Amino acid sequence: MAENDSLRHQGMRKKLVDGLKIKGIKDERVLAAIGKVPRHLFMESSFLNFAYKDQAFPIGAGQTISQPYTVAFQSQLLQIEKNDKILEIGTGSGYQAAVLLEMGARVFTVERQKELFQKVQLFLPEIGYRPACFFSDGNEGLPAFAPFDKILVTAGAPSIPEALKEQLKIGGRLVIPVGKENRQEMMTLIRVSEKEFKTEKHGGFVFVPLLKGTVNF
Ligand code: SAH
Repeated sequence: MAENDSLRHQGMRKKLVDGLKIKGIKDERVLAAIGKVPRHLFMESSFLNFAYKDQAFPIGAGQTISQPYTVAFQSQLLQIEKNDKILEIGTGSGYQAAVLLEMGARVFTVERQKELFQKVQLFLPEIGYRPACFFSDGNEGLPAFAPFDKILVTAGAPSIPEALKEQLKIGGRLVIPVGKENRQEMMTLIRVSEKEFKTEKHGGFVFVPLLKGTVNF
């Protein structure tokens, strides 16, 4: 257990997990991971009391930590198996990456904002999570480390980046919210063969936008 995790925090997490079950999250491995990751350590101290509410919150640099339901929903769609090699686009607070690591996956995570990238790269190992962190434009994926079993985009994409489709293993799944700034449709693409993808739609969500390029702040 992380040093700054208490029985009170664990109790709050259990309630959060119960709430996610009621909202329809069924994957036991996802629920167990959310029950373990100390979300309060990912938030600015002024928001500590909100850490286990099912809401998104600001994490600095104009970005947000996703709502637990959204993290759970995307993780469930990925159908994660132990040792899956996963590419996450949009590291943000690192919370989603920690949930995937808790599920036994190997995680490569990409962030375009330098400040967030640096913060997470230092912070996650301190609480025992070790993803490979990259500062780059997620629209390009990570060609040097491809292919991936699963790819997860945690920012709203105007369209599906071709590079991500190319970096998916055959049989692999890409989970991505696609659409305009104020609403995206959650989509799963399953790579059926070299050229064929099967698409599923899973309803409306609102994410911060997937932008182009990197920024040094
Ligand atoms: N997964 C995060 C939620 C992140 S919010 C968490 O668990 O906290 C979306 C993140 O995507 C933001 O940090 C934003 O800076 C980042 N982002 C937006 N466009 C990007 C791009 N092209 N490449 C990499 N990261 C991007």
